[in-house]
Amino acid sequence: MAEGAAGQTIRTTCPYCGVGCGVLATPQDDGSVAIAGDPDHPANFGKLCSKGTALGATLGMEGRLTHPSIHGQQAGWDAALELVASRFSEAIAEHGPDSVALYVSGQLLTEDYYVANKLMKGFIGSANIDTNSRLCMASSVAAHRRAFGSDTVPALYDDLDEADLVVLVGSNFAWCHPVLFQRLLAARESRGMRIIVIDPRRTMTAEAADLHLPLEPDSDAALFLGLLRHIEAEGLADTAYLEAHVSGPEAALAEARALPVARVAGLTGLPAEQIRAFYEAFARTPRTLTIFSQGVNQSVRGTDKANAIINCHLYTGRIGKPGASPFSITGQPNAMGGREVGGLANMLAAHMNIEDGAARERVQRFWQAPTMATQPGLKAVDLFDAVLDGRIKALWIMATNPADSLPEAGRVDAALKACPFVVVSDILTETDTTRHAHVLLPALGWGEKDGTVTNSERRISRQRGFLPPPGEARADWWMLAEVARRMGFSGFDYADAAAIFREHAALSAFENDGSRDFDIGGVAAIGDAAFDAMAPFLWPKPLAGPEGGRFFARGGFYTPDRKARMIAVGLPPVSKPRDDRHGLWLNTGRIRDQWHTMTRTGRAPALLGQFGEPFVEIHPADAEAAGIAAADLVRVTTPHGEAILRALVTKRQRPGSVFVPIHWTDRFASHARIDRLVDRMTDPVSGQPGLKRTPARIDRYAAHWFGFAVTAQRPTPPAGAYWAIAPVEGGYRIEMAGEHAPEEIQPMAARLFGLAEDAAEWVALHDREAGRSRLAAFRGEALAGALFLGPEPVALSRAFLADAMASRHSAGERFRILAGRGGADRPDRGAMLCACFQVGVNEILAAIRSGTASVEAIGDALKAGTNCGSCRHDIRRMLDDHRLEKAG
Ligand code: SF4
Repeated sequence: MAEGAAGQTIRTTCPYCGVGCGVLATPQDDGSVAIAGDPDHPANFGKLCSKGTALGATLGMEGRLTHPSIHGQQAGWDAALELVASRFSEAIAEHGPDSVALYVSGQLLTEDYYVANKLMKGFIGSANIDTNSRLCMASSVAAHRRAFGSDTVPALYDDLDEADLVVLVGSNFAWCHPVLFQRLLAARESRGMRIIVIDPRRTMTAEAADLHLPLEPDSDAALFLGLLRHIEAEGLADTAYLEAHVSGPEAALAEARALPVARVAGLTGLPAEQIRAFYEAFARTPRTLTIFSQGVNQSVRGTDKANAIINCHLYTGRIGKPGASPFSITGQPNAMGGREVGGLANMLAAHMNIEDGAARERVQRFWQAPTMATQPGLKAVDLFDAVLDGRIKALWIMATNPADSLPEAGRVDAALKACPFVVVSDILTETDTTRHAHVLLPALGWGEKDGTVTNSERRISRQRGFLPPPGEARADWWMLAEVARRMGFSGFDYADAAAIFREHAALSAFENDGSRDFDIGGVAAIGDAAFDAMAPFLWPKPLAGPEGGRFFARGGFYTPDRKARMIAVGLPPVSKPRDDRHGLWLNTGRIRDQWHTMTRTGRAPALLGQFGEPFVEIHPADAEAAGIAAADLVRVTTPHGEAILRALVTKRQRPGSVFVPIHWTDRFASHARIDRLVDRMTDPVSGQPGLKRTPARIDRYAAHWFGFAVTAQRPTPPAGAYWAIAPVEGGYRIEMAGEHAPEEIQPMAARLFGLAEDAAEWVALHDREAGRSRLAAFRGEALAGALFLGPEPVALSRAFLADAMASRHSAGERFRILAGRGGADRPDRGAMLCACFQVGVNEILAAIRSGTASVEAIGDALKAGTNCGSCRHDIRRMLDDHRLEKAG
């Protein structure tokens, strides 16, 4: 492990999204870590988004799990591992190999993933190992395998620079893959290419597009069936390519011919002219790149949607050529690495098919495995059903939080509660999943662990440790290997990650000879020092033959006849009719500055400056119909439960649908675990749940009191109330509301601040008739907490009060805190638009009003938008709004 001394810069990879940016991490003398983009990494060339930039702020030890525990009691590694091994062995002996399961994660390094998959599929003899990547891109995997015979991503990031048309389907690229989005915008600026966005919401990506198609949720397949019909009618078939390399076009075309533009318009809700504009742009642009992501995958027809897209590219021969390809972009940092080792329940190692007996026998021989799994295992949703109904007796969850992230997550709670034996390896003591663990194992976090990850373009990069392991934390692969050894299995004597990587690479080349896409045999004999120094590279990297590059421009698919399959995709049925009680669709997704369930990004104050509270985006017409005003609290109800969220009323939201971010958990808010509310229906081919379309209703949450507080300690919210907590520099902020107004204000404040009433000096203002109170508690010159209560949402400067936590306050200045805002010399900065440089909306507005007239000029004046660039479109919109306001 390349642990870094202070001042020594270590090259590593960002642990968040599938872009896979290279990071330079430099530990400092004061214990902090300076973070910068790696200018030599081909995924990002030195750029980082707001999340990557804030990585240094997420490395604190607060809440870290540092010792194994058994039933909540600290234990030694030996005792914990013995218990895991014996409980798994007992379950297998008594109920068979399918009575145990692993649920792993796209956050794991490839080496962790490899050992987990080997243990489960080759030695325990069950394929009951699935991953949270099932929620992310399983439909793309299934579509690739149907069309190409293998899970191969044909394109490269270079195609963003080479394309003349980029079509983004179900992808909020600007927020979810920000560094690639900036690369795309730069390419448009320099080459004049066009961007078309297909998304029900007017996202930041859509705002930047030359054409936005705000289609009905889940109608993408109809749109692409119509496109196939159009390109056939226009005579755009690449007949030579079809003849040589593709089978099945007739059946696919037969389905598509039933969809003239008028019918597509009816199904998608799009104007016919918009549909024609898209079809004509696609038809006349040979260099078209179609990027698709979770909006396609997270659907009960996700596989068909992806195949409908791929069909159009196969039919026109636009695949694996510069600027021309279908391109599935992954959400997680190592979803691709997980796919390479076969970390999904329906895959085998090294991109081999578990259904293929010869492949199973080959892997068994390579591993010298005693008991190979003979069939696919349970996919994520089914796996937790099996936990709930008692078929799974022992479960090990690694590096993920299914109690928050799976649909109808309340069932996961129930399943984990009912499971006789739950092991969780994690970096945190308390998550909504760890609270169910019988055995907790402390894992290494980013900055401590060592291995490889693969990004969306098949580029394998090193993650290197630069911090010492905290306490007794160990690598996930080490825990798995130790348990395997204790279960009596040989073949797990790995000295380090390099040894596992070599075995993984050797398996990829084993009896391959070009018959499989994934081949990194060229690094199978890599030495430890070379592994330490290994530069990012694209696969394939065979021992001999061409390396890296695109796939399929000249055919060579991985089907028995080496031809691609065009899949006959039919019209998708509507997943579930909306009823009178649930007249809207609930859509879920990510926001710019947060990652998954906030276990890391939730620690960085800068990343909660834009959205410090969970929210629901509602179109103004739907808000008005429900009697909801901007910033009201809203109860969102589905057949599975309810959430309470802040209303964000915006025309960017499509009428008839609401959007809620996936990130908030019970750690950060009282009623915001949105995946509890989401349907668990899955795609029949991929098993991926349709997380973007659940029938829902909205109502105004009629609170009788509202509150806002800043606190030095993590606040203890009042029982039964609505609350949302976010960190600020030097403390926390909390929004609150409730149905029963608190009677004893100061005792409530003391509980909230986590101090005895007599342990601080208080200043207070009460207007008892109006039901308003303002209190602040001081310890010396430090602010221990300030609380503002009223019968309506409390209007004050959140930014001023957040800043106050990191300041000193002399006795004469204490009452200024109760004003809730700075004086004329300290105007309210407003919500943080630029997370990188902490520039607030009000500061940008003030610059615009004083005549700063371009995004670049605002960047020069305030630095906003000059790092990751994610806020540049917000700034542009503010400039446009100001111009419109002036003109009107
Ligand atoms: Fe990390 Fe941002 Fe790069 Fe994704 S785009 S890998 S989150 S820095």
